[in-house]
Amino acid sequence: MAKVNRVKSRNQTNITAVFPGSFDPFTKGHADIVERALAIFDRVIVGVLHNPSKTYLFEEQERVALIAKHFERLGDRVAVESFSGLLVDFVARTGSRVVLRGLRAVSDFDYEAQMALVNRRLAPQVETLFLTSREEHSYISSSVVKQVATLGGDVSEMVPAIINQALKRLYRHRAK
Ligand code: ADP
Repeated sequence: MAKVNRVKSRNQTNITAVFPGSFDPFTKGHADIVERALAIFDRVIVGVLHNPSKTYLFEEQERVALIAKHFERLGDRVAVESFSGLLVDFVARTGSRVVLRGLRAVSDFDYEAQMALVNRRLAPQVETLFLTSREEHSYISSSVVKQVATLGGDVSEMVPAIINQALKRLYRHRAK
């Protein structure tokens, strides 16, 4: 009888994807990428980049805490960790081989493709996969959120509720 090579079922492999970014702040566009990735991967690790030479609106640990709180309901399927240095080193530490990135428009593509190529040179075993943003999220970016929130505008359509609260606290505090 012919031997059948079975395709491994999802239960036999546990695939974790790493979703890296600055997330300053985390938006509904980012949250949607994580949620849709969970339909494909067993776990997603949100990697919060800390670049010591950059100034952030939210400190590293605050970004981590806010994102973790947002995904609390999903238990251990979503982990949030900060990292600095090379993305491929962080990915290696997690044991994952998948980097997940989001694409909003053609304008994202050049930079994203370049980073994916650099990362492949550095770590050929790591694949970068892209999810396109939902149409209704394609206008959302962390910098637009910051610009609108700084001027006292409503960003509740653009960020998860917990981030919206944190932004309000921050700007109320700054206004004093
Ligand atoms: P970085 O500083 O690494 O670009 P960001 O926090 O700005 O980090 O974005 C992280 C990832 O999320 C990037 O791949 C970016 O293209 C993607 N992204 C940003 N905004 C959205 C959005 N509205 N919808 C889908 N993906 C997004």
